[in-house]
Amino acid sequence: MRVLKFGGSSVANAENIKKVNEIIKKSAQQDKTIIVVSALSGVTDMLLQSGTKAADGDEVYKENIRTIEHRHFEAIKQLIPVAHQSHLLSLVKKSINEIEDICNGIFLLSEITPRTKDRLASYGEWLSSQIIAASLNYSSFEITWKDAKELIVTNSNFTHAEVDFEKTNKKIRSYFKEADAHTFIIPGFIAVNKKGITTTLGRGGSDYTAAIITTALNADILEIWTDVSGMMTADPRLTSNAKVIHHISYREAMELSHFGAKVIYPPTIQPVMNKGIPVWIKNTFAPDDYGTKVTTEIDKSAEDEENIVRGISSINNISLLSLEGGGMVGIPGFSRRLFGALSSEQINVILITQSSSEHSILWLLTVMIPIKQREQWIKYLKMKSS
Ligand code: ADP
Ligand code: ASP
Ligand code: MG
Repeated sequence: MRVLKFGGSSVANAENIKKVNEIIKKSAQQDKTIIVVSALSGVTDMLLQSGTKAADGDEVYKENIRTIEHRHFEAIKQLIPVAHQSHLLSLVKKSINEIEDICNGIFLLSEITPRTKDRLASYGEWLSSQIIAASLNYSSFEITWKDAKELIVTNSNFTHAEVDFEKTNKKIRSYFKEADAHTFIIPGFIAVNKKGITTTLGRGGSDYTAAIITTALNADILEIWTDVSGMMTADPRLTSNAKVIHHISYREAMELSHFGAKVIYPPTIQPVMNKGIPVWIKNTFAPDDYGTKVTTEIDKSAEDEENIVRGISSINNISLLSLEGGGMVGIPGFSRRLFGALSSEQINVILITQSSSEHSILWLLTVMIPIKQREQWIKYLKMKSS
């Protein structure tokens, strides 16, 4: 069994979805296959932006929703014969009406909560997976659509929900044990909490959905299909001579992704690494390229031996907060208090340095804090730590 995940650019429009469909068909000829898909590229951003614009009282959200509708209608019209479009068009229309109703509510209240953001964002993957499933079924290729909300259970940490693996693994295993289809498609990124309310796994989280399914079922391989030919020595958008790393260890891949290599969502590697299941990063637009294979051990070629540095990654919009002062010398508990304050505000610390004199401590915080809120956070931390 194999699990294939296709990202936003791979399913951006009808032309790309046709390429994806070919890859799915080829994989299904060889093995039982589960497909996980992202939203059409840019749609998650547009959905969330519709919500925030509505909360700001900006009626541009209505135009945004029209654009989202148009993107999906266009894909359907180019993928499915006219005679078979009506069911899918009305499915999209129904979702668009719901999105509009939610945004109208946000507009009236001038307020958007993380829970509402997740509800809005969830439409992207729901729609893309329905359209791809229908396009395959209409081309006489049988694929079974399954809602991720019936498989993945999380806590209520909306926008970054944490998976309840006990419940999730049970649900995934029992569904796939009973289902007798050969190929399945599941929307990535979305899940539910214990009460059945929609949650999401964090931006870029479709990779994680695929990893969760892969490990629950002990699949043979997880393939991440994207718009580059593998994990590269640097971000190809920033470095023109970045090269593909053909073979990389789980630990190296995890390190690069945690520190900015967006090609794979950081939490994805851990569950597959625990089970020793290989991950293969492949390019939807150049499927014959080798890509990057991620495994426990790597056989280093002579060329690799020469390249001691495996890759370089970078992260934008980071706030560097420093807490220092003579008053901290010899007084226990400062670190605990500062980390307590950060954790209570759900701030994700990605790097810590501490001076050897123990006079000062430096914290490097992640992109999750908008740079414009830096002053506010500094004030908060000073207040909590003084
Ligand atoms: P998808 O929509 O398929 O999930 P993403 O946009 O999340 O794709 O990730 C792919 C992008 O990651 C590439 O287009 C590339 O610009 C970026 N990227 C950043 N660092 C790296 C890296 N080290 N290797 C490969 N791609 C990288
Ligand atoms: N569509 C979601 C996002 O844009 C999840 C994903 O693409 O992995 O973050
Ligand atoms: Mg991604």
